[in-house]
Amino acid sequence: MTPRVVVLAAPSGGGKTTIARELRTRLPEIFGYSVSATTRKARPGERDGEAYHFLTRDEFERRREAGEFLESTEYAGELYGTLRSEVERVLHSGKHVVLDVEVRGARQVRKAYPRPASVVLFVIPPSPRVLIERLRKRRTESEAELSQRIDIATREVETARRELGDVYDHVLVNDDLDLAVREVIDLVQGGGRDVAQRAPRDVASLLSDFVRQLRSEAAQLKQSTGRSR
Ligand code: ADP
Ligand code: 5GP
Repeated sequence: MTPRVVVLAAPSGGGKTTIARELRTRLPEIFGYSVSATTRKARPGERDGEAYHFLTRDEFERRREAGEFLESTEYAGELYGTLRSEVERVLHSGKHVVLDVEVRGARQVRKAYPRPASVVLFVIPPSPRVLIERLRKRRTESEAELSQRIDIATREVETARRELGDVYDHVLVNDDLDLAVREVIDLVQGGGRDVAQRAPRDVASLLSDFVRQLRSEAAQLKQSTGRSR
């Protein structure tokens, strides 16, 4: 099978990193991972060259000017980007390459690798409440950063809803991890079953409901953090 670019886009906490890790662990002969570059600081346990290539802003900008990035963007004040060399390395080894990006990156990769060279998925947890719970449990952000990520998440889900048919092949609800991973494998191996095309209205309303509930959760969160200050 021709190796494809598999894009996992999701709001922070959606489960991209977890799903990407599972794909590589379960099927290491079939899926490889593109290690992105970022200027953000490493979280405890994140190793340079594994989770990310951690770069200074100068280094990132120099490499961006040299044309080394397939796409890049700013997220929460830090730069993130996909290195062409990473994507090509995995594709040349005959494996599908998994990318974990935010929505602007997904759009840029879709342009660079039109269907069927890429499969682009938007991943959401079963509800906004679960999203917030998972982010909290991950314990990688302060309450202020969490609130910022939830605001960004709201905009990202809204963007995904608008761009459904153009950018995304599938919206994946990451409830049970095992089922979610199997769904990705089936989709990639099966050549891209297109749920967003099959039932566009249902998927769009699923995302609209998610945005509405997330806005209300975000407002409650701001109220309660405001009160606790
Ligand atoms: P992202 O990379 O999209 O920001 P992560 O993969 O870091 O999201 O997932 C956010 C948190 O949710 C992590 O702590 C992860 O262990 C947890 N998680 C991810 N998928 C599931 C799932 N299906 N069920 C329960 N917890 C999950
Ligand atoms: P985090 O700081 O949680 O690791 O990532 C923040 C956001 O940046 C997530 O939505 C993640 O998917 C996205 N991201 C990570 N690497 C890249 C990349 O190479 N390009 C783009 N566009 N986004 C990325």
